[in-house]
Amino acid sequence: MSKVIIVTGASRGIGRNIAYNLAINGYTVIANYNNSEQEAIKLKEELHNQGIEIDIFKANVSKRGEVQKLVEFVIQKYNKIDVLINNAGIAQTKLFTDITDEDFEQMLKTNLYSAFYATQEVVKFMIREHKGSIINISSMHGKSGASCEVHYSISKAGIDGMTKALAKELGPSNIRVNSIAPGAIDTDMNKNLTEEDWNMLIEETPLMKKGQPIDITRCVKWLIEDEFTTGQVISVDGGMVI
Ligand code: NAP
Repeated sequence: MSKVIIVTGASRGIGRNIAYNLAINGYTVIANYNNSEQEAIKLKEELHNQGIEIDIFKANVSKRGEVQKLVEFVIQKYNKIDVLINNAGIAQTKLFTDITDEDFEQMLKTNLYSAFYATQEVVKFMIREHKGSIINISSMHGKSGASCEVHYSISKAGIDGMTKALAKELGPSNIRVNSIAPGAIDTDMNKNLTEEDWNMLIEETPLMKKGQPIDITRCVKWLIEDEFTTGQVISVDGGMVI
């Protein structure tokens, strides 16, 4: 059987592009979504029309119990998980002094706890198989920090810390753990950016262009098949953070 891959937050943006392209490339894909059921169904149908089947599964990955149900579904159906892609995430722009406890909690639960929960639930099966790969979608802001996105930056720095620590702990079990740190990517997450904002970002980017979801997918595809890279936070940001 081809590699079984869970992609969290696969209804839109980067996660959708990853799920779509992995399915096209013959992997067995379980695409998780939370609110965007119609988009998830559209993704499944688009692939079905090309003769490719994927599973879509609703779970709010900021909740342990829902993550457990997602993983149970995959194990019951396929009896293994080769790759977990922790992609689900939210962003929020606010002055540090305006961030409420609820904002902070929601940010950490959605971006960081979700990856912690999903990884914990999945690695027990990877350890059993003595192989596996965890790919966390972090952010350049986890490395560089972003003004007015302190809680987001904290969540992504946490992801990178988890990546490095877990790579050491799980390496002897032949499980690789890596992060991808995207730069500014053209998705709904950035829909509030004006053309002027984008032009400024493009000017700050050595490769002088916007990132697209496919740029992240290419790195994911490489990490899935690689066998000697672990504990890394790989920037895919057009050179924004050097
Ligand atoms: P997006 O277009 O806003 O999509 C976010 C996805 O995450 C959606 O599919 C959404 O699903 C899902 N999601 C959010 N909360 C969830 C939850 N509690 N449970 C399950 N799924 C959840 O964002 P994106 O740009 O693709 O971002 C994807 C990842 O890349 C995020 O981790 C983000 O921080 C990171 N990233 C993005 C950029 C960028 O410039 N776009 C840069 C650096 C890093 P539903 O709609 O179904 O709820």
